[in-house]
Amino acid sequence: MSSVVSPSLSASPQRVAARSAISAHDVRKSYRVGNEDVEILHGVSLDIGYGEMVAVMGPSGSGKSTLLYCLAGLEQPSQGGVEVAGQHLHQLNRTQLAVMRRSQVGFVFQSYNLIPTLTAAENVALPYTLGHRKPEAGLVERTLAAVGLSERAGARPPSMSGGEQQRVALARVLAQQPEVIFADEPTGALDTRTGQMVLGELRRIAHDPSRCVLVVTHDPAVAAACDRVLFMRDGLLVQELRGADADSVAATLAALGRQDA
Ligand code: ADP
Ligand code: MG
Repeated sequence: MSSVVSPSLSASPQRVAARSAISAHDVRKSYRVGNEDVEILHGVSLDIGYGEMVAVMGPSGSGKSTLLYCLAGLEQPSQGGVEVAGQHLHQLNRTQLAVMRRSQVGFVFQSYNLIPTLTAAENVALPYTLGHRKPEAGLVERTLAAVGLSERAGARPPSMSGGEQQRVALARVLAQQPEVIFADEPTGALDTRTGQMVLGELRRIAHDPSRCVLVVTHDPAVAAACDRVLFMRDGLLVQELRGADADSVAATLAALGRQDA
């Protein structure tokens, strides 16, 4: 597969020099359920560097998606702070957050923000369109080709399979070339071969020294492809593995699940 990320759009040097691409300090998140505040995240702190690909794993309901949404600025923590690409999210207003989301931050979420009335190609170009910019000639076509969707450029999300939609979201991130990418189960709807391809693209982006990828996954093979794996349980980070293979990831996950029983 050809590389579609051009070096000309790399992040600014001062951002690259910043200590972390993503950092969280004692992040807590509560939701109002009935008359009660129910705390889902109980104080999560982490640091993810540029050039790193990090997985978050944990039993269902342990708070992985909630954490990802807080780190990505899609949810506001009830307490604690998040910094992404050198910016304190709580200091940004809605407009500044929106600008950040279409420039420095990218998302590969299964059910997140493909516009149903736009074609695949228009969805890929969206971060440019929203920023009143034009993607360089051929960029949209190249990124769709990179994810095997050349034939579906004119299709709209409602007529596409979950796996195809997932790949449109990935193509959009490849075209957008953000510094920080958040992915929630990016290979969940994909067959093995396509999943490998998507994973390979995310790895390639993450290992660019001016970028990073944070991926929530239940798949030990995906986690093993990452540099580090953070394990969550009951709204807390409880363990970390570095350079682990799929078997040790699976064993760690199974042990966490047993503690729940
Ligand atoms: P995971 O992604 O690890 O499966 P989630 O972050 O989706 O876990 O959810 C963690 C817990 O928070 C679950 O018990 C879920 O029911 C609860 N939760 C998530 N979103 C909300 C919400 N908007 N309101 C109330 N509870 C929520
Ligand atoms: Mg989830």
